[in-house]
Amino acid sequence: MTITFPFDPLERSAETESLVMHDDTRLYYRFRASQYYGGVSTADAVGCSFLCAYCWNYDRNLHPDRYRTFYSPRDVASKLMNVADARSLDLYRVTGSEPILGERSFDHLVQLIRTLSRFRPDSRFILETNGLYLGADPELARLLRIPGLSVRVSLKGIDEKSFERITGARKEYFYYPLAALSELEKQGVPAWPALMEDLFPQKKIVEFAHLLEANGIHRELELEKVQPYPHVIRNLEERGIKLRQGT
Ligand code: SF4
Repeated sequence: MTITFPFDPLERSAETESLVMHDDTRLYYRFRASQYYGGVSTADAVGCSFLCAYCWNYDRNLHPDRYRTFYSPRDVASKLMNVADARSLDLYRVTGSEPILGERSFDHLVQLIRTLSRFRPDSRFILETNGLYLGADPELARLLRIPGLSVRVSLKGIDEKSFERITGARKEYFYYPLAALSELEKQGVPAWPALMEDLFPQKKIVEFAHLLEANGIHRELELEKVQPYPHVIRNLEERGIKLRQGT
């Protein structure tokens, strides 16, 4: 895939979906237990609509076509349940990528979550998303009213400029994840925003939290920290982004 910054993330999403989806199967490269959220059975997939400077999976998302193993929703559910059973976990997620790139990947994801909830009725699933496609097609939010599902929308910037610099995507798409959060809240789907706190001044984060409130997003903003892998530091430097010290 040829990338020119800033790119149209919906076009990139469609292009990526055509690489990582085959019928109802998707490319994954690993299944594992992870310590996040107190322990979560995790499927690592490839392919994203953004190319965030701080992405820990940057290279795989730059070249998703290097991977070859497609899994059906049932295959993924089975692998995740094996991991969960071995470690006594009841929480599931897909990470390392954007799970919703378009309609096909959305259907794959919903089938996966529904399969897990059929075989493990008491389990929970955290949908980690950048909110772009949900914002582009807000009708999808209604279809996420699934017992045990909650949605964590990772916001990349606090304004158009920081969004474009961090994601590589055109600045006007800054508003799409906000629209997604607002629609999820309207539909009664448990959802909350998250932000990398060490990329922004404290005062700006407080102002941004007020902007979220004003846009009908009432859940508390989760603050997380950038993982300073060498490639992340290099990408941040190349895009002129500084990490705030002492947070
Ligand atoms: S949205 Fe997430 S998976 Fe996609 S590039 Fe950004 S950090 Fe990586």
